[in-house]
Amino acid sequence: MEQYDLTEAQQKAFEDNRTEFRKFEDQLDGVREAARSRLRDSGWHPDSVGTFSCLSCPCPHFQPGGPQGECKRGSCRHALLDHDRAI
Ligand SMILES: [Zn+2]
Ligand SMILES: [Zn+2]
Repeated sequence: MEQYDLTEAQQKAFEDNRTEFRKFEDQLDGVREAARSRLRDSGWHPDSVGTFSCLSCPCPHFQPGGPQGECKRGSCRHALLDHDRAI
């Protein structure tokens, strides 16, 4: 790996950023879990669990290639974040 000459403040900034990103991932896991149980409670049972099915619409799996990295499926167009990730 390349060596960077970072000031203490820069090292701290990167460190804080890493912490924040990890925190966000944890939050996202919680949001996804809540989204899944909300769908279960409503009687929605996608038969392909864990295949990037969309949690914001009935899209069965994420289709890469949409604008801004969104799902290409015309009825979906939600971000990858909206889609459940493979377990
Ligand atoms: Zn989709
Ligand atoms: Zn969708």
